[in-house]
Amino acid sequence: MSVFDNDAFLHHDSVHFFSDEATGLQAIIAIHSTVLGPALGGCRVVNYASSQEALTDVLRLSRGMSFKNSLAGLELGGGKSVIIPPKSWGGDPRHKGEDRAALFRAFGRAVQSLGGRYIAAEDMNVSVEDAENMALETDYVVGLDVSHGGMGDPSPLTAEGVFLGIRACVRRAFNTDSLSGLTVAVQGLGKVGWRLCEDLHAAGARLIVADIMPETTARAARLFDAKIVDTDAIVGTKADVFAPCARGAVINDDTIDQLAVKVIAGSANNQLSHDGLGTVLMERGIIYAPDYVINAGGVINIAPEAKGQVNHEWVRDKIKHLEDTVGEIIDQSLKTKRATNEVADEIAIRRILDARDAGKAWQPSFVKTPSLRQSA
Ligand code: NAD
Repeated sequence: MSVFDNDAFLHHDSVHFFSDEATGLQAIIAIHSTVLGPALGGCRVVNYASSQEALTDVLRLSRGMSFKNSLAGLELGGGKSVIIPPKSWGGDPRHKGEDRAALFRAFGRAVQSLGGRYIAAEDMNVSVEDAENMALETDYVVGLDVSHGGMGDPSPLTAEGVFLGIRACVRRAFNTDSLSGLTVAVQGLGKVGWRLCEDLHAAGARLIVADIMPETTARAARLFDAKIVDTDAIVGTKADVFAPCARGAVINDDTIDQLAVKVIAGSANNQLSHDGLGTVLMERGIIYAPDYVINAGGVINIAPEAKGQVNHEWVRDKIKHLEDTVGEIIDQSLKTKRATNEVADEIAIRRILDARDAGKAWQPSFVKTPSLRQSA
């Protein structure tokens, strides 16, 4: 299949393939849209079964970033990048060593060659250190450490946005502003899930948790009086809210009949294995907070960096709006009897098309992220 025949290619501005023999770099950068601003989206390192699979992944993800950045009201377009780990890494995408630093510098040069149309950040298996190696070669990478002019770890902000989004859902599902006494099943107690549990516990919610790390769930039982269930059982656990905070495609054709909640609202990306499941959830009276809307706290946190700024106050203020945004999407869904994910996509696309029709043209020279290149 060629790039142009790939279903996910539709409406992409451009797709760029890079290789660097010296470091073994093989990477794809997909730019879905730069109508609202430079295309911002993370870079991931994944062992794909084929380069075709890598291409499909990066195309889907870059389109998703356009929607996420648009709906969050950011002046940013959507893009994403994937790096295929070199053979010399022995199949370990988290491989450590000097050859890793060299590869990320080579990737930084690739990003720089796009002149600011794409801004990279961390995603799966890409650390702050990797991003800082990119930054030795490019002006267009965000997610840097606070000490290097970055905004720092986005996870607490993502968790805050998810908490507010849960509140918006609960208000509609249970007609209450209080989470006290409600039961929330949290899948994944990592950087976001753990912080979310802290906030939910403080708000008086009862917690049911699952994680592949038994010591983490044991800690949650101790600190939050959480009930622990098996990782396989959490999707079907009876609760008021299910918060997927681990991995994608948790709601799929096999698990959808197991759901025993009124609300699904969590941080994981791509929670639905396909879009049609949003309609199934709606028909069953389950309120689903579209993943890229409720988890936008992370990208909101790095947005100022894309303008070369550090502005925590702006971020906090912007994240507060997520409660209203999630609420408005649910209200429209209930009114028009269309799935929440459909409503969200429509709003996101509309903002991009309106800007395009108004002739707004973003210029790369407007944007410069904090640079480490001078010190390289
Ligand atoms: P993380 O890696 O810190 O945490 C993931 C947790 O899930 C880990 O504790 C892991 O042990 C657990 N886990 C893995 N497989 C599991 C399974 N099968 N069942 C139960 N638990 C399992 O990741 P994170 O940063 O907390 O992100 C969580 C999710 O939210 C991811 O899907 C991520 O893409 C998404 N997200 C995160 C951010 C952010 O700011 N960190 C922003 C947007 C979206």
